[in-house]
Amino acid sequence: MRRTVIAGNWKMNFTPDEARAFINEVKPLVAGKDNCDIIFCAPYVTIAAAQDAAKGSNIKIGAENVHFAEKGAYTGEVSAKMLTACGVEYVIVGHSERRQYFGETDETVNLRAKAALAAGMKVILCLGEVKEQRLSGVTNEVVAMQTKLDLKDVTAEQMKNVIIAYEPVWAIGTGLTATPEQAEETCAVIRETLVSLYGKEVAEETAIQYGGSMNEKNAAELLAKPNVDGGLIGGASLVAEKFAVIVNAAQ
Ligand code: PEP
Repeated sequence: MRRTVIAGNWKMNFTPDEARAFINEVKPLVAGKDNCDIIFCAPYVTIAAAQDAAKGSNIKIGAENVHFAEKGAYTGEVSAKMLTACGVEYVIVGHSERRQYFGETDETVNLRAKAALAAGMKVILCLGEVKEQRLSGVTNEVVAMQTKLDLKDVTAEQMKNVIIAYEPVWAIGTGLTATPEQAEETCAVIRETLVSLYGKEVAEETAIQYGGSMNEKNAAELLAKPNVDGGLIGGASLVAEKFAVIVNAAQ
């Protein structure tokens, strides 16, 4: 049975002290909620403080990106080896903000995913259509293509460490949420694509999250859908009570 994964994406928010205070606030609210994995992906400089505060709890701290090279002249970047050396197990790759503002493509997302997997990390792979694609009726084709390109040369064995986050770009940070039916339909298309790539068993084992303005009000309905195995949460992951409601909805 695949696990439900509730992951926060803090983006460029929280200083180390703020991250520590936030984890201390959210920790008691999600204690004992063991029916899902709980992760906060943090900016590199806040990871250590968040890890320290999360010690001994059911909260894991991940990173928001990783570079694909092992080391070298890539100013400002961080390698998978550096992250694992810091005890970081989870990493987001392919977030739409990285694609939109930092020129990441399916090719570089694939390289980053493979580097993280080769280092033994767990990858939260984000993909999803932009508004024009949804309105043109090509969402299914777009997510199927992204799934194939972003997972190129990722083995069936490595898929154990892959979580896919279906994130319609028009829903991220906009307050617009996909309906539970839209989320279910598109997550099912991603799962069918995984069947074509890896077979039914791997596809059934892979967690597919929904992300895009998921919050304390809409989480229960979205998470009730059979192909929605969790959430990747931006804004609501910065407010402990809201995040805890979402974790509860996943129980
Ligand atoms: C995200 O950053 O992945 C996200 C889904 O953000 P928000 O929940 O704010 O839409």
